[in-house]
Amino acid sequence: MAANKINVGWLTPNRACNNRCSWCYAKSTNFNDKILGLELAEKLINLLKELGVETVIILGGEPTLYKHLPDLIKKIINAGIQPAVVSNGRRFADFNYAKTIANTGINSVGFSIKGANKQQYLELTGRDGYDEMMRGRHNLDKLGVETEFSVTLVNGIIESMEELVDSLIKEKVKKISWDIGSPILTKNGAEAINIADPITLARAIENLYKIMEKSCMEYDIFLNIPLCLLPDYVLKGLRDNNRAMSCCQIQTKSGVIFDQEGRVLPCNAFCDYPIGKFGVDFNDAKSFQKFWDSEEMKRLEKTLIRYPSKLCSKCDWWEICGGGCPIKWMYWDPKKFIKGRR
Ligand code: SF4
Ligand code: SF4
Repeated sequence: MAANKINVGWLTPNRACNNRCSWCYAKSTNFNDKILGLELAEKLINLLKELGVETVIILGGEPTLYKHLPDLIKKIINAGIQPAVVSNGRRFADFNYAKTIANTGINSVGFSIKGANKQQYLELTGRDGYDEMMRGRHNLDKLGVETEFSVTLVNGIIESMEELVDSLIKEKVKKISWDIGSPILTKNGAEAINIADPITLARAIENLYKIMEKSCMEYDIFLNIPLCLLPDYVLKGLRDNNRAMSCCQIQTKSGVIFDQEGRVLPCNAFCDYPIGKFGVDFNDAKSFQKFWDSEEMKRLEKTLIRYPSKLCSKCDWWEICGGGCPIKWMYWDPKKFIKGRR
């Protein structure tokens, strides 16, 4: 977990969305209509380029509702950086819109799936978007743009993982990236609607591992729970085949996240807790690096990256585990969940 070079930048150009997922961190922003101006976007892209960032991930809210998305993608490509868009995919059901995005030169678009079927999508998002998402995928396919699928494990999806995998196999999807739901921060503190506790998640991951190993699909899982909750054979199987990712960018410092106002967020879930701002705390790579390495940032890291349990301080897996997502411990008591390695 040693400090790494920043190789990923996140841009959050908007918080508006056409879904209402109960676990969405953008909820705390009320899905507001503030957007990233193109002039500021250009300055942020230049800064990320100077920092040597290889990929810029555009997410929201729902980035396809951001009116300048095609221009933003083109600016990133022109800067020699790989753009990645994370979308719920619904707007791509409009072929003309899909064509506009395909014409930017982007190679692939990430689709985040919010339900195993039409009914579950409606229940989890409050919107009837499953068919639009699939139509969106077919449109991008016709236009030669690849779609990469990701799923967040939340209640409902946990019980339907097999069905979801089967339906994606029928759609000839070759790979899924699995993320693990975490609580979100609201003005009233941490909230975990539809988010399973770490022990339930560990059982779900074991089940998921068996389902994915039986399937013909490629996959990876972002393990943001204490690794000591997983059976050894699951962890070994995932790690031996490079299917496990762990430790977020707060823990590795390998990424930087900017919101619509050019504010730096410690994590996408901390929408209202900026730690710095373009034009105030830095305005180029040199001043950014000074800000990034400052004593104030080190103090902040210490607050965010604490051992959630005394057991972690003696654990030789700390570097690869980090005790799981720190936000989980704002909602659950780590003493009840972290039992250490046996
Ligand atoms: S689709 Fe994404 S941005 Fe929209 S509400 Fe769901 S999680 Fe949030
Ligand atoms: S004891 Fe702590 S660091 Fe070790 S595996 Fe468990 S949660 Fe991770």
